[in-house]
Order: sequence, then structure tokens, then C-alpha cells
Amino acid sequence: MNSTLMKNITLIGAANWEVKENTSIAIENGKIKEIGEDLSKNPSNYSQIIDGEDGFLMPGFVDAHVHLMANGFHNEDNMNNPLSYYFYKGLNAAKLTLETGVTTVRDCGLADYGFKLAAKDKLFPSPKLQISVMPLSITGGHFDITLKSGHDMIVRYPGFPHPICNGVEGVIAKTREVARAGADFIKVMATGGTISANDKTDDIQFNIKELKAIVSEANRLDRKVATHCHGYGGLKLSIKANVHSIEHGTSVDKKNAKSMVEKDIFLIPTFSVMKNQEIAAKNHLLEDHKIEGTLKLAKIHGENIEIAYNQGVKIAMGTDSGVQEHGNNLSELGYFVRMGMSPLEAIMAGTLNSAKCSCLQDEIGSIEPGKSADLVFTKKNPLDEISVLEDKNNILMVFQDGEIVKNKYY
Ligand SMILES: [Zn+2]
Repeated sequence: MNSTLMKNITLIGAANWEVKENTSIAIENGKIKEIGEDLSKNPSNYSQIIDGEDGFLMPGFVDAHVHLMANGFHNEDNMNNPLSYYFYKGLNAAKLTLETGVTTVRDCGLADYGFKLAAKDKLFPSPKLQISVMPLSITGGHFDITLKSGHDMIVRYPGFPHPICNGVEGVIAKTREVARAGADFIKVMATGGTISANDKTDDIQFNIKELKAIVSEANRLDRKVATHCHGYGGLKLSIKANVHSIEHGTSVDKKNAKSMVEKDIFLIPTFSVMKNQEIAAKNHLLEDHKIEGTLKLAKIHGENIEIAYNQGVKIAMGTDSGVQEHGNNLSELGYFVRMGMSPLEAIMAGTLNSAKCSCLQDEIGSIEPGKSADLVFTKKNPLDEISVLEDKNNILMVFQDGEIVKNKYY
């Protein structure tokens, strides 16, 4: 029997989101078995005992918006590099992400079923994955990376769907194709983006008929829909089409925020990517014609997300890592706190809410008996100062399914 006892710890994120001081946790066969002060009275029950020395144990974090296979979306990379190099970079991103304390990710585009399977079989260190395989995009939309030269820069290999689809029949067929390729959820580009080859962030992309067709077909296939939304029009249409989550949500206003609350739609603000793009724009690291728009976008994003938060929209943690560097995922929590969340609330957004957004709340997201033992241990109190979690040197241990996958503690 493989069982671990961790004693003398404060649990953050126990049942009912309680903080439990001076307690112990028993882990058996990958699951949380029991929580309680008295557990250490029978040391012979355990194959391993760890003294937490008054440290803090949290649920493993869930980043609900990453691209493990991406490294800045430099269009020319797929032309220059062998395909195998692209996958090895993905392995590296997975390892960096896991080391930050993120034990599960929702990949919003490019990670495929084979990558997910290999991670599940523990062929390499990686967060567990929920995948969308390939986002749906209209011709000339956010994920159409056909350059004016006529070259299509999208990565291609057998069985990997191409993103482009148009019209009701076209989007239904593409939803089925992406689901066949192993997508756990359907990612849709509803507006343009900052790094697009051919569009502007305000552009409406799929029309309402297409969006409704995608949602209905995805739901028939027992899958949820996540839409990438910067501009107001695409955001409004996504809400109207009853999507499950809005990614970025840059143009959300009070009225749409209220609709999101009514319809129980998640918001993944991805502050990390917006702030990173803002810094890149300020340092003239973006193409000249994108600088002004990016700065404007970052400003309204910050203001509008705060409005949505104050309206009570459900917020989950997603970073869009892959646009920016991998391995700084928990910086997102600092942005949440600066927006007005308490540190405890921010940790909840990064664990339980993201687990709910990924439809995995029965397995992960809190520290409760029966759930997977995906856990993060630190000696510094994140409830006093959330930034302790941003420095991955403070993440001393990471457990995934009861196994210690990072150990800088003993
Ligand atoms: Zn993204």
C-alpha cells in the first residue's frame, strides 16, 4: 500500500473552502483519504510521513488557458523547425508549468490527443490536460495564419485538424472533426486577436448562426465551448449563443457581465498575457501597427474585468502561457488580488473555479477526501502575501495523484 501522511500543516481550500490550521492529511493510492489532527497517532499506518513544519498545503493549481505547444506564436517557426522539435518544446513547457504548481491545464489550442495521452501515462513530467486540439476560426480570422505571401503557417501533420471553417454546415463538420481528434472542449475564435496575421481585435468573426450551431453540436457531443473574445460584438454574440466560457473578455461591460451571471458563463481574464503584451508594446517589441491598439486594449481590459468581477461573474485562472513564456502561471493570482480579490479568493479562482470551468470539480480543485491528491506545498503564507506563489522557488513540493513530482523540501 502506498500511503503518505503529511502532518503539521495548514490546509487552504479544504471542504467549503475552509482554512484548517495544525492538521494532517493522509494520501492513499493517489487520492486524499482523510484529514484530521489525530491521524499522526498511528504512524505505522503510513509508508511515508512528512513533517510540514507549519507550512501551507493548497490544491494543485489549474491553468484554464494555456498553449503548451506554443512559444510566442512566431509564424515562421513552423517553417524553420523540424516537427519533432515542436513537440520537444511542448515537453519542456509542460515541465516548467508543472514546477510552478499547476497540476492540470486546459489547453486552448494545439496540444493534441497524443500529447495528452503521453502526459497521462507519465512519459514526461506534465500537468494533466484538458484539450481543445485546434481552435475553430473563420477564413481570415484569429487562427487563420495564412500570410499575405499565401503561405499557411499552421502546423500540419496527419490527423491534426486544420482550424478554418465557415457557414453553419462547415462549423458543424469542424466541431465533429475536432471532437473526433480527441477534444475535451471546443475552442472558438469569436473575435480577432492581438497576434493575428489578418485581423483586428474588434472584428466579429463567426456570426450568431454559426456560433449557435457550434454550441449546439458541441453540446450534442457532450462538450463545452470556450470563446476567445476581445471586441464587444463577438463577446455579445458568444453570450447570446450560450457558450461555457469567455476567454480574455476585454470588452465586457456591466450589461454583458449581468448576462454572464444569469447564464452562468465563466470569465477567464488572462491578465498575464494582456500585461505581457502591454509591456512588449511599450518596449516596441511588437510590429509598429499593433502598438497603439495593444496599449488601448490592455487599458480597457483592466477596467472592464474589474466591472465584471464586481458584478459577480465567475472568474477562473488562465494565463495564455505560450503567447508569453511558460512557467510564470501563478503571477495571474497577483493580478486578481490587485483587482480586489482577497488572497484566499484568488487561490480559489486558481484552483476550484478553474477546476469547475474545466468540468473537473469532482476530481480536483479542493482538498477533500476522495479527490485526487494534487497538492502544492509552501512554507511562506500566501494568505499574507499572494506574491510568494509567483516565485516558483517558494513552491517546495508538488504532488500529482499522490506522487511527489517536485521536491525542494527534503
Ligand atoms: Zn489563447
